[in-house]
Amino acid sequence: VPELPEVETVRRALDARLKGLAIESFHLPKRAFNRPPVKGALDGLIGSRVESVGRRGKYLIMRLDTGKHLILHLGMSGRIVFGTAGPHTRFQMTLEGAVVMSFHDARRFGTVGCDLPELGPEPLEDAFNGEALFQALRGRKAPVKALLLDQAVVAGVGNIYATEALFESGIRPARRADSLSRQDCDRLAAAIKRILAQAVELGGSTLEDTAYLDPNGDAGYFQLHVKVYGRKTGACGHALKATKKPLAGRTSLYCPICQK
Ligand SMILES: [Zn+2]
Repeated sequence: VPELPEVETVRRALDARLKGLAIESFHLPKRAFNRPPVKGALDGLIGSRVESVGRRGKYLIMRLDTGKHLILHLGMSGRIVFGTAGPHTRFQMTLEGAVVMSFHDARRFGTVGCDLPELGPEPLEDAFNGEALFQALRGRKAPVKALLLDQAVVAGVGNIYATEALFESGIRPARRADSLSRQDCDRLAAAIKRILAQAVELGGSTLEDTAYLDPNGDAGYFQLHVKVYGRKTGACGHALKATKKPLAGRTSLYCPICQK
């Protein structure tokens, strides 16, 4: 599932390639995605020019010279590529200079033309820090990992990076959020920032279960630096354990010695 670093990598590629280009045509068949575009989201798209491509959490925001935005979400398995259609192409856009952008999505959980939901702070911005995280977790009984995956708490964090950040800050994923001290939150927020920044640098993670590639077909390299996710032994040298209960739908790996 693409998380902030993967979406940011896609954003950079789209911004570099599409900026300043007029949209000549697009194709979005009915029922292309599980979630149809919101009413009017695609009106006036043809003839408008892409001013820039931005990002908020895991959402891509194509800003147009008409003042409108076209918002895209990659969902579980979405991939944007430059060039021709594949077997799972759900949306295609042709821009001037014969530039073609195709959105492939085998599982159809992606969206084109959605509204931006309420999102928590951007983790790489100053608004997200130990104090903000402490305030967001205060009085919450849910496991800390489940809240890190809640996009209203912090935007863009998913399973891989939450697992890694909890390991680096020595906090067990199943711990009740309200048991975290202010110091725990400082360590956790700092780990989230450090890991996401490093993952953006490395172009995201390309793991077997996601097979993520950027729009130019390039893989990410953060998976080479993963300390817990998908491993049997942690980077600390200890055997990892999985949480007894799933957290936000999936069991989570942690080190029973280093994480408290
Ligand atoms: Zn350990």
